[in-house]
Amino acid sequence: MKVISVIGSGTMGNGIAHSFALAGFQVNLIDISEETLKKALQTIETNLDRQLVKESITKAQRDSALKNIKIFTDTRKAVKNSDLIIEAATENTEIKLRIFKDLDSWCKPDAILATNTSSISISKIASATKRADKVIGMHFMNPVPLMKLVEVIKGYSTSDKVTSAVMELSSKLGKIPVEVNDYPGFIANRILMPMINEAIYSLYEGVAGVQEIDSVMKLGMAHPMGPLQLADFIGLDVCLAILNVLHKGFGNPKYAPCPLLVNMVTAGQLGIKSGNGFYNYSNGSKDAVVSAKFRKKV
Ligand code: NAD
Repeated sequence: MKVISVIGSGTMGNGIAHSFALAGFQVNLIDISEETLKKALQTIETNLDRQLVKESITKAQRDSALKNIKIFTDTRKAVKNSDLIIEAATENTEIKLRIFKDLDSWCKPDAILATNTSSISISKIASATKRADKVIGMHFMNPVPLMKLVEVIKGYSTSDKVTSAVMELSSKLGKIPVEVNDYPGFIANRILMPMINEAIYSLYEGVAGVQEIDSVMKLGMAHPMGPLQLADFIGLDVCLAILNVLHKGFGNPKYAPCPLLVNMVTAGQLGIKSGNGFYNYSNGSKDAVVSAKFRKKV
């Protein structure tokens, strides 16, 4: 595989493009927004410069990675000669089904179509195409250039050949791929999201405050970040969407999102991206918000 297209140049798309470009692949980075693409290129340059300062890459590697990336708003043109397309667009089923339907008619017949979805069924996404055997999940972790894991998700019809090719490719990127089957939340979010939800319930029920909950998990379980801070980092809207997929997919009330999470998302408090979540980021630092505000009235 030589040419990789990445669809969506937001948080994940720019990180995926960065990692492939640094590993020597030609990357076509695609978005519907020209402005987002320009911002993505700036972010990639800043992040490569950071790696250069830390001496984890050389100047020559930095320069050739930047040269390896081309930006496009015309998806059809960009994907025409790609061997692998990784979709990292907005987490919305309709958007992804539309993209995969188009990719199926625009891409080479042997191209592999991967999705970075956090929670949408790979088999469902594959059903929008006539090549379900070549559709697979490549679930990268944020921030992509630093995180080693790629959860490689086999849809119901994904072939063993395609799975092996994607496992091998992930290793070439310097990542560690882990193969899982296509059930709601896969592995990462099936385990992570109930933990985050339980932390939010603990806050909602007044068991402890924001900092206390995060301190217990950081100091007691050696987690680098507490679950509430992590939820802010992921985005509370993303957490809610994934919990809804788990709840609906398994039909088990244990996955029901905490009403406090639902309220915060409705109020537009989405974590770092909105400047406010369980912590307040508006003045450039991370200040805990008043915990009592969150408590359920008893
Ligand atoms: P984001 O909102 O930062 O970026 C999404 C980008 O997709 C936007 O720039 C948008 O303009 C673009 N887009 C939307 N429709 C498009 C289309 N039809 N064609 C081209 N571009 C289009 O989102 P993100 O956080 O980067 O998430 C992207 C995907 O990665 C989602 O499926 C998400 O669930 C998954 N994911 C996110 C994280 C995370 O921590 N943010 C982690 C793992 C996986």
